[in-house]
Amino acid sequence: MRETSVHIVSLGCPKNLIDSEVMAALLEQAGCRIVSGPEEADILLLNTCAFILPAREESIDEIFRLAEWKKAGKCRHLIVTGCLPQRYGAELAAELPEVDLFLGISEVPNIADHLRVLMEGKHSEKNRVIVTNPLFLMDAGHPRLLSTPPYSAYLKIAEGCSNRCSYCIIPRLRGKARSRPIEDILREAEDLADRGARELILVAQDTTAYGRDLEGKPTLALLLRELAGLNTLAWIRILYTYPTGLTDELLNVIANQDRICSYLDVPIQHIDDDILAAMKRRGDSHLIRNSLERARAVIPDLALRTSLITGFPGETPAKFHRLIAFVQETRFDHLGVFPYSPEEGTPAEKLPRQVSQRTKETRRNLLMEEQAVISHEINQTLVGSLQEVLIEGPSSSPDYPMIGRCRRQAPDIDGLTYVKGGKQPFLPGYLVQCRIVAADDYDLFAEVISSPD
Ligand code: SF4
Repeated sequence: MRETSVHIVSLGCPKNLIDSEVMAALLEQAGCRIVSGPEEADILLLNTCAFILPAREESIDEIFRLAEWKKAGKCRHLIVTGCLPQRYGAELAAELPEVDLFLGISEVPNIADHLRVLMEGKHSEKNRVIVTNPLFLMDAGHPRLLSTPPYSAYLKIAEGCSNRCSYCIIPRLRGKARSRPIEDILREAEDLADRGARELILVAQDTTAYGRDLEGKPTLALLLRELAGLNTLAWIRILYTYPTGLTDELLNVIANQDRICSYLDVPIQHIDDDILAAMKRRGDSHLIRNSLERARAVIPDLALRTSLITGFPGETPAKFHRLIAFVQETRFDHLGVFPYSPEEGTPAEKLPRQVSQRTKETRRNLLMEEQAVISHEINQTLVGSLQEVLIEGPSSSPDYPMIGRCRRQAPDIDGLTYVKGGKQPFLPGYLVQCRIVAADDYDLFAEVISSPD
């Protein structure tokens, strides 16, 4: 396989991205060359997402796009991995002859062997689809070829999910929740910090479920305390928490450990009790309100992100107005809204009183319009405040030549901070102390007040 060039396209969530990084590193160890474009590749590998219809459509479109390179004789093989084969392996194989191999999520550690079989022409229709029970859980022994900038890396603390939200297919795709031991996570965190990571972003399907499946039931709070002891790290960020998992212990660790960003991503999905019950979400509206109030009380400068679903079966205009009133009242710093996508094989798919696609999208747009106003107002209150900014690189703005993020901004999903002043240009990964001088709906504009020499 020496010198075989491989181009990897990764779709979906950061957890899937980490799987792509592990596969890239294992292929590199096996002698392959990971290349940045399909035009240079002998092998094209697409790591797919399949959790809702738009994600599946994107995956299928990408398969057809990459298959064009194969038809043009530019590449020899096309491999499709991840959640789409995990969900539809056999059906896909029948419909997509241009794909040489479909691999489920448990094949991540075996990617080099699968490629060797392909390259040696030993593959056949019989072993064109390899999908087994989703049991794989990476550990610190699995190498990663980081695809994020070196100063910021995702850290997978667990895989799978044992919650049973009625609309969600993920437990079937990724398996039941399985946590990595704390020592193993610390080993990888130290390695990522040694490789230049200043920010580590903790991900799992439900980070607050961390450790429940391990002996002694170590908690996310305990893990965070341990990670906060790593001096070379500057920022630790947590994504994908569950409202019922916001324990006092967790909130206090976030409040008392400077390295842990005062940032919480808490997907709540809805606030109407009937809808929450139909979604089979744990915790009712009272618990959700109480958890968010406690979080804001314990962590003063908390930046709060959530995700909501519009148009869930049974969502009457009155129930939707309850949701929009909740958004107006709670004033989240960051908000993502998804029209409900009925997923085959989920209990919610069979619920009565399904809502039209048009209504789902209208409600999503109404919520996002409301959030734009709220986000603008919140950002205005930050003008004059001091913020630590992680520099990401040059910007296209002549007035603010550098771009970065402050602690209240996660990569790819939140706004950015544009930076002027100081001894420009700063290297990516630098942390500079800034004063916010202006703001718009989603982005902040800052002036450097002090920076590393
Ligand atoms: S918490 Fe619910 S929505 Fe999230 S992955 Fe688990 S089952 Fe799906």
